[in-house]
Amino acid sequence: MRIYNTLTRKKEELVTIIPGEVRIYVCGPTVYNLIHIGNARPLITFDILRRFLEYSGYKVTFVQNFTDIDDKVIVGAREEGVPIKEFTERYIAAYFADAEALGIRKADIHPRATESIDAILNLINLLDEKGYTYTLSDGVYFDTSKYDKYYQLSKLNPEELSAGESQRVDEAIDKRNPADFVLWKFRRGDEPFWPSKWGEGRPGWHIECSAMIHKVLDDQIDIHGGGRDLIFPHHENEIAQSECALGKPFARYWMHNGFVQIDNVKMSKSLGNFVTLREALEEWGGEVLRFFMLNTHYRSPINYTTAALEAAVAGLERLKRAAAALSAWVDRPATGAEISGAAANLSAAVAKATAQFDEAMNDDMNTAVALAAIFDLVREINEALAGEIDQSVAAATLEGLYKLTDCLGLDIRPAAEEIPAEVRRLVEERAAARKARDFARADAIREQVTALGFDIEDTPTGAQIHPRG
Ligand SMILES: [Zn+2]
Repeated sequence: MRIYNTLTRKKEELVTIIPGEVRIYVCGPTVYNLIHIGNARPLITFDILRRFLEYSGYKVTFVQNFTDIDDKVIVGAREEGVPIKEFTERYIAAYFADAEALGIRKADIHPRATESIDAILNLINLLDEKGYTYTLSDGVYFDTSKYDKYYQLSKLNPEELSAGESQRVDEAIDKRNPADFVLWKFRRGDEPFWPSKWGEGRPGWHIECSAMIHKVLDDQIDIHGGGRDLIFPHHENEIAQSECALGKPFARYWMHNGFVQIDNVKMSKSLGNFVTLREALEEWGGEVLRFFMLNTHYRSPINYTTAALEAAVAGLERLKRAAAALSAWVDRPATGAEISGAAANLSAAVAKATAQFDEAMNDDMNTAVALAAIFDLVREINEALAGEIDQSVAAATLEGLYKLTDCLGLDIRPAAEEIPAEVRRLVEERAAARKARDFARADAIREQVTALGFDIEDTPTGAQIHPRG
């Protein structure tokens, strides 16, 4: 697989530290509110990466953290008058519920900052011993001028930075260099704190990720991921801390997903075009949101519009209808009718779609092209559905189709159990009425089925039942 590496600004062949294994770390949320649809993008991007690497035969270890101590966490818990632990547990539970609705698998390990304080202090201590730190009145800082490879990831110009290029760097006025960042924040008032040799306090944000990576994975990992807004300063700082403390390379490949825009405007709270993932899930459902995001390459900006989401609804429905119609042939004994050319061609169509899918995904995870390969296969399936399809060919074709859609985390299997028995019985009665050319009765039954919340679609392979959308 070739991956676009932000560190080298090039697509590079994935060569893992341990052959056959991939260790991935993706920065997780600070748990103080509901996540928005912009946060859903790294979730989906790296869930697909994990699935595709497993599909390709790798053993994958996937880690995503929770930042559960932070200024915003402290302020939020204080405003509500609840203990911090209760406050963060609520948003961790909300995060898991939203992620599950998107079809995101849980990480193998979800470390939390507050459970990693020893590892954080160990790492700061290593930096301290090697002379990379200095202490100000409010905390212990990392001296970025001591690391000559600082800016290797962001490729930023330090002059631009001192002119105020980034608003995300720490604000202390007496820092030695504008980019210097806090490793350990000294205790203020009744804020939560842990003891340390530098004084009571709590960790800075950047050190948490480095420390958790080394604690649960290793000194060096294969892939580090996140949204592109994390490149600077967060990921630049992670590299600086880890490489200075341990004296070896940190992450081999840095992958960053693009932004989500709403109607062509970058989403922001101040503009009021802010959509929580929960709102989007209520409106569209998780699989539509996932399908929508897959239609754009992960590094490109994506535009959240009603038209794009409606197109996703239609695309997903097209996949599901083909799967449902084809699965009807799996249970149907052959009638002895002649197999059409399209049906005879299905196994070749699966092989071709799979090869195109693999090529697209191996090329820096081009999910848009991979989806197009799936739709090519669906077109062939729909052609074959005009005639007789052999049971075993139908089963093998479905298996091939599901292998690809599963890799993208799309479940298109017909949900037979969702159709109530009464509806099935009515649809059978209707088929009998139609066979007897009693169309008045057939129409009356269709109305009964509609009243129960289902649509009947007459296809060459028989009636399909769909819940009314
Ligand atoms: Zn991080």
